[in-house]
Amino acid sequence: MKGRAFLIDDFRCPRCGKLLDASSHMDAEDAAPDAGDFSVCIGCASVLVFNDRFTVRKPTDAELAIALADKDVCRARQMIERMMGIKCD
Ligand SMILES: [Zn+2]
Repeated sequence: MKGRAFLIDDFRCPRCGKLLDASSHMDAEDAAPDAGDFSVCIGCASVLVFNDRFTVRKPTDAELAIALADKDVCRARQMIERMMGIKCD
């Protein structure tokens, strides 16, 4: 992961409670996220969605289906699984 954007406020993963204080883009140098971009929690590999550039929420069912079919999201989840020694559902 190359670029990094720091979240302004302290946000926690809505699933595992992990503090999320920064985000990293999988490929691009410009790492600042836009509303609707997917994110993956570093603590539990859950798919999250940016509300704006610096807050996240759980995805809707439709968003989750799209995210799980996205090869970059899958690649990020697999990397986190390996790093954290967890298995996503
Ligand atoms: Zn999490």
